[in-house]
This record gives sequence, C-alpha cells and structure tokens, in this order.
Amino acid sequence: MPRDNDQYIVEIMSFNLNNITRENVKGLSPYSSARDEYVSDGSTMVFLDANENPFENGVNRYPDPQQRGLKAILAEQKGIKEENILLGNGSDEVLDLLFRAFCEPKQDNIITLPPTYGMYKVLSGINMVENKEVLLTNDFQPNVSEIKNTIDEHTKLLFICSPNNPTGNSFSTQNIEELLNSFNGLVVIDEAYIDFSSEESWTSKLSEYPNLIVTQTLSKAYGMAGIRLGICIASAEIIAVINKIKPPYNVNQLTQEKATSRVLDTASVKNEVSQILAERIKVEETLKTVSFVERIYPTDANFILAKVDDATLRYEQLLAQGVVVRNRTTQPLCENTLRFTVGSATENKTLAKALKMI
Ligand SMILES: *Cc1c(COP(=O)(O)O)cnc(C)c1O
Repeated sequence: MPRDNDQYIVEIMSFNLNNITRENVKGLSPYSSARDEYVSDGSTMVFLDANENPFENGVNRYPDPQQRGLKAILAEQKGIKEENILLGNGSDEVLDLLFRAFCEPKQDNIITLPPTYGMYKVLSGINMVENKEVLLTNDFQPNVSEIKNTIDEHTKLLFICSPNNPTGNSFSTQNIEELLNSFNGLVVIDEAYIDFSSEESWTSKLSEYPNLIVTQTLSKAYGMAGIRLGICIASAEIIAVINKIKPPYNVNQLTQEKATSRVLDTASVKNEVSQILAERIKVEETLKTVSFVERIYPTDANFILAKVDDATLRYEQLLAQGVVVRNRTTQPLCENTLRFTVGSATENKTLAKALKMI
C-alpha cells in the first residue's frame, strides 16, 4: 500500500508520552493547596485560607507553588513559555521527579553514560530502577551504536550530560540528534554547565523533539548553589505530568526572591562568567607547567580535568597545602585524573603556588 512520507516518519519515531508515564501517575491529580485555589490578582484581600500566622515578617505566607514571577522572567530570557518550565529544589529534585513520574520500580531502566554526574546512579538506586551504563568512547563522546543496542522496551530515560561532568567536554550535536531521533523514551540533557560553553542550549530544539527534556541550574554559572534552584524545560505535556507529582511548595519563598533578583542581574552573571573563563585559561597555563600533569582535557565548563602521574598522591599533597580538588581516579576512563574547579584569581594563585611547592 502506498503511503506518504509523513506517515512513515510517525511510524519510525513513535514517541508517546502516555505510553511512558507510570500508571499510578496517569491517574493522579496534583494536590491543590490553598495558594493554588486562590490566585491573587494583586488586589488587597484578607487571606484566611491557609492557616498562616498573620504577623508579617516576609516569609509568614506560603510561597507561590507555581513560582509564576520567576518563571515569567526565565521564559522570556530563554525564549520559551512558562508552561515549558518546572522549577525544583535544585536540579537534583528535578531529576528525582523524572524517575518518579516515568520509571516503574523493579521493572523499568535508565541509561547513563559514565564517566558522568553521580546523581543519576544514586537516584536510580533510591528509586529501584536499573541503571544501564554505556561507557563514553575514548574521546568522551556517547557510544551511539552501543546505546541503541542497550535500549529495550523498558528503557524510559537516557541521561546526557553536556558539557559533561567530570570530563568537561560537550557532546557532538550529531550524536545527540541521532539519539533524540532513535529513542522513544525521554532524552534528558543536563545543561548544568551550559553558560560556560559556546554551544547553543538544546532548549531551542524543544519544538522539534517531543522526547527532549533539558535541565539547568542556578548552582554553577549563576553562583547560587546555596539557594537550591533547578530548572526543567520540556514540552507543556511533559511538564504537566511532572507537575502532578511535585511537592506543592518545593521552591521556598527566599529562594524564589533570591533567584528572581539574580536572574534579572544579567550583567553581573555575564561578568562573573567571563572572569571565570579568563581564569580558566590561566589555570590551564599553570597546569601545563606542572611536571606531573600528563594531560589536560579540553573543557566547556568551569572546571578542568587533568591526568597526572598518581592522582591519589597528588590529591593528598594538595590537601596538605590547603587546596581541595576532586580525585576522579575511580571513575571509568578517568584513571589518575583530578578535577580542578576554576576559582577566583586569588584562589587560582594559591593553587599555582601549591602545585609549585609539590
Ligand atoms: C552541579 C551539577 C548539577 C547541579 O545540581 P543542583 O542540584 O541544581 O545543584 C546538575 N548536574 C550536573 C551534571 C552537575 O555537575
């Protein structure tokens, strides 16, 4: 039977959100809090609906469960809609919500690409979801054919961290596109370090890929690790599913306020990022002069992975000098590597001195 091309495309790429959402989540309606049922239009009202203490101190009221003010700013800055955003108590909460929305314990599985961010594995353990690991290639790129071979009918999430922690590099656009096109589960692209990179964010491709989820954070470039604010960006349909299971007040009032003023201060963020990038070059120059540094890997992030002669020895020696770096030697493909976060100019000078002493 002849068929037109559109139909064929629908057949090979048959992502269906309903098929991958957990049964119990499909039937849920989100907890409706007092602050959900009455949305203030700015007029003066007397709030006797939430059993709060009426004495004003700045935080005596429950926060907006949908963080509308903050989302409106983020949506505008990122060129997306508010309905494409879910905010969490750090991206770690966002990632956990993905497991709980889409992965059936003891039945489904996820794919991660070590060496990578450790939380994916931790969360798979907590949620009793099998973690299938497909090592990166020797040049730290996704092994696309091996990933495709590993995908089965129970694979729900594929975690792609780009720029990748701890290797620092970005994954090739072609590799990621191939995975987005061939996987009927959700492709989660963790862009925690995107603001240090010259690569474009995958958020610009949202309309092309119904199975794409991008996570970002205020913990790195935005300098707000202490307030815990993670960002999940996806289709309105995916966001609606996650919204059903998120705790109503998962982003507290102080975080919403701090985050709002920080994201509005684009000049400061930009300025700090460019200083960090300038310092990154200096740290690279320093590392190049160190005799026991054997290799410095290219980086798109605010850290540098370097291979040394004996990572554990050098780690201990740096500690003794008062400098804490991350020893990544136990990670696959990372034998005898140390990960150096780029600090302030002063901190980086201290690092340089410590390396010289050793
Ligand atoms: C640091 C980091 C995060 C940030 O997590 P938060 O919970 O938002 O602080 C997320 N992903 C990766 C890969 C990271 O390195």
